[in-house]
Amino acid sequence: MSDASPSNKHSRPSRVTTDQQVESPDWEDALQTPVQFVRSVGPERAALLENLDIRVAIDLLYNAPRDVLDLSNVKTPAELEAGMQQSVCGKVVDTESRRTSNGKTMSAVLIRCGRAFVRGVWFNQPWILKRFFPDNVVLFSGKPKMRSGRWEFSNPHTQWLENDDAATEDGLPVTVIPRYGLTDGLKMYEIRRATKATVEDFVHLVPELFSPEALESWKLLGIREAITKLHLPKSMDEYREGYRRLVFQDLVEFQLAIELRRRVWWSGVPAPKMPCTAKIDSRIRRLFPFNLTPGQNQAIADIVADLNAGRPMHRLLQADVGSGKTAIAMYAILVAIANGHQAVLMTPTELLTTQHWQTIDKALAHSRVKRRMLTGNLTSQQRQDVLEEIRSGDVQLIIGTQALIQKSVTFSNLGLVVIDEQHKFGVGQRAKFSTGIQSPHILVMTATPIPRSLCLTQFGDLDLTTMSDMPPGRQTVKTFRVYNANTRKRAWKFVRERLQEGRQVYIVCPRVGETEADAGQLELSFDEEFPELSEKPAEPVQETLIGSAEELFEDLQKNELKGFSVGMVHGRMNTQAKADAMEAFRTGETQALVSTTVIEVGVDVSNASVMVIQQAERFGLSQLHQLRGRIGRGKHQGFCFLFSDASSTDVVKRLSAMEKHTDGFKIAEVDFDLRGPGDILGSRQHGSLPLRFGHLIKDRKLVEETREAAVELVKSGQFDDPLLAPLKSAVLDRFAELMDLPRSG
Ligand code: ADP
Ligand code: MG
Repeated sequence: MSDASPSNKHSRPSRVTTDQQVESPDWEDALQTPVQFVRSVGPERAALLENLDIRVAIDLLYNAPRDVLDLSNVKTPAELEAGMQQSVCGKVVDTESRRTSNGKTMSAVLIRCGRAFVRGVWFNQPWILKRFFPDNVVLFSGKPKMRSGRWEFSNPHTQWLENDDAATEDGLPVTVIPRYGLTDGLKMYEIRRATKATVEDFVHLVPELFSPEALESWKLLGIREAITKLHLPKSMDEYREGYRRLVFQDLVEFQLAIELRRRVWWSGVPAPKMPCTAKIDSRIRRLFPFNLTPGQNQAIADIVADLNAGRPMHRLLQADVGSGKTAIAMYAILVAIANGHQAVLMTPTELLTTQHWQTIDKALAHSRVKRRMLTGNLTSQQRQDVLEEIRSGDVQLIIGTQALIQKSVTFSNLGLVVIDEQHKFGVGQRAKFSTGIQSPHILVMTATPIPRSLCLTQFGDLDLTTMSDMPPGRQTVKTFRVYNANTRKRAWKFVRERLQEGRQVYIVCPRVGETEADAGQLELSFDEEFPELSEKPAEPVQETLIGSAEELFEDLQKNELKGFSVGMVHGRMNTQAKADAMEAFRTGETQALVSTTVIEVGVDVSNASVMVIQQAERFGLSQLHQLRGRIGRGKHQGFCFLFSDASSTDVVKRLSAMEKHTDGFKIAEVDFDLRGPGDILGSRQHGSLPLRFGHLIKDRKLVEETREAAVELVKSGQFDDPLLAPLKSAVLDRFAELMDLPRSG
């Protein structure tokens, strides 16, 4: 099987295409029967299912339900109790919308449940009525109140049932119903029926990958029973049991791949030994204008031991913004160079490359280390020259962006790769450095503390150093949520006062110009609840705060910051213009810098003590924490103002968390809980995890359990037992390519 791409969501990839089926109706492996021939499907539905990546029978079996309706606790109106969390189910009979005496719009939906009527009401969400049609069968969940003799749910959580969801005549369903992702033209009952048929006809053929002992010790259902209970549960408990087995399998396969990768690293190509002598140590320490903190010294001790161990280092250094990771990187780099090797420092942005260059170039001013920058912005001649120097070994230290992992870059004697702000680089990208004859030491550094469940997955292949202290004298940034015109005025006055005292200010905008189509991206809660009805409410989005850097740059010079010198930097400027803008800010020539998140990581101007963030609700919390890490770096107290006039509870919760917490680890956990791993890992294609069922938040406990299970299986040698060969090949099918694992195990 060749298909091991990370996006492939099924354990056994489909091997038969729709064209081949017609010619050979006998599938050697019945599980590979094209869905078209599954009972109740046929060619038209098969074509629709293909949009969901469902091509053959087993794909349907491994198609994870999107959610599950628990209709077992649905009450009749007569059974309801005031103020308790409960559900009712009924048919929509009427909708209405009107103004209340205090100026709000109230929208109401009346449903009939058996012989009684129940109302759902919403305030200031008039568009919600567009989602209800007469005779829709819906489930309201919430805490009802009795009002004028009728039960009423305020803001109920609503689920729309399919025609065949409601099981009995009087609208009282009795069961637990999995619901699947759909595609245009495909009905829920159709995919449900197809799934049921596949379970009945094919589940007995699904191979079990776990041994009986493993099933017992992990307390898991057998695969056939699990798939059956997942798709055809008789109770929520059955559904959960089935789901748990499939999540477990999903996660443990991923964890096994990670363990295999560690094993390859440990037993593979030896890495150069790079001892750090006392002489090297003291020469390096002399370069720093400060004493290293205990945390920095500990991290350095870990790294020095790795560099001299004869096997490649694969270490993740996680430490909060401003804790002094650059010094650690420099230390490691200089040890490598002192041992006659080349070293690379890789960053996610050009701006950060430039920043690191300036810091390191200055620190190395009196040293003979030959150093170069390599970014995507060199002319082709410059690039050729640098590449040649890298190839010949003339240059010892290269600082650059992803441009460094292109094929055309060949090193003469690469000994160490330091990757800064690792979370932007995914599992797959990391693999690129470890291929080839050379096996350099790798140190990855992240400024976003990573929640534990992510650490165990995305970064599970790395040894971990956590540095929790800060350089002396660092104050925590005082953060304030600014949510109306009045407080905004006061904030700007405060900014002007600081500027007059000689401080500088960052003003961060969510976008460059007017055109980005990112409006409303965070107002997810409604659509998340009703994903099947994803049409956007036709409400015009009123923006009272300027979100565009270009616009704000003009506006501030005329209004709030009139008379001060204002600069601007954003991602659409060319490298030179960006560098100039940063330089002007660094020297204090510009007092205020309007920017986008290009300043998110690494930028270091210690005189900047205030930050204003426009439309703060548009940023992830970890991102906000990164941003405010730019200030309060010097001796001046840092202040951060989060401007936002979004008033949804979600936004208030998130921004209040920023006011309350100063610890990046705590914030990362809150962020992760509220928004999932996307923000922490950076963009989707770089960061998303290759999981089909497992969910890092919901399945947190299983992440830990599967981690232990995988480590144990590999360490004890059981994983190499022929009995587990099917499991091993399943793991390799899924991950060999992504994680650069040898097929031979
Ligand atoms: P990080 O990359 O972890 O966010 P930096 O390496 O940019 O942090 O360091 C932040 C600031 O702290 C820099 O100005 C750096 O010079 C300073 N710094 C680092 N280590 C120390 C130390 N041990 N004592 C005093 N200042 C330090
Ligand atoms: Mg840094």
